[in-house]
Amino acid sequence: MNKIKIMESSVAKWNRIIEGKSSDGGVLDCPPCRIFYMLLCIGCPIANYTGKKFCKGSPYIPWYWHQNNVHAKIRKKVYCPECLRLATDMRDFMIEIVESMKEKEREKAKSSRKNKSSVEEEPVEAGSTRKKN
Ligand SMILES: [Zn+2]
Repeated sequence: MNKIKIMESSVAKWNRIIEGKSSDGGVLDCPPCRIFYMLLCIGCPIANYTGKKFCKGSPYIPWYWHQNNVHAKIRKKVYCPECLRLATDMRDFMIEIVESMKEKEREKAKSSRKNKSSVEEEPVEAGSTRKKN
């Protein structure tokens, strides 16, 4: 399972909302929620990034409350300029997470190559083969 791909589909979801082509179904159509939510919200890249579960600390919360308090419609979508601004914030945040995950992948790839070569070069530990008298 590729978490970066999942987050990229989340960027695509918010782009469709910004374009007015789609609405936000929350947990039901959030790509990472569909995989990580399951009432516990464990392992979601958004939660890992913010350090908080259930999208707390992300722009989803202002979007959610604006939808509830101002529009109070079943379908969460772009109804006014403020909606557009909040949806754009969320889309940009998803991009930020994708970028940070890609950066981490690059660092991991770099350091795993480094670890491998250092293991090969490392001499056998002197104490490990010597018998104790
Ligand atoms: Zn609005």
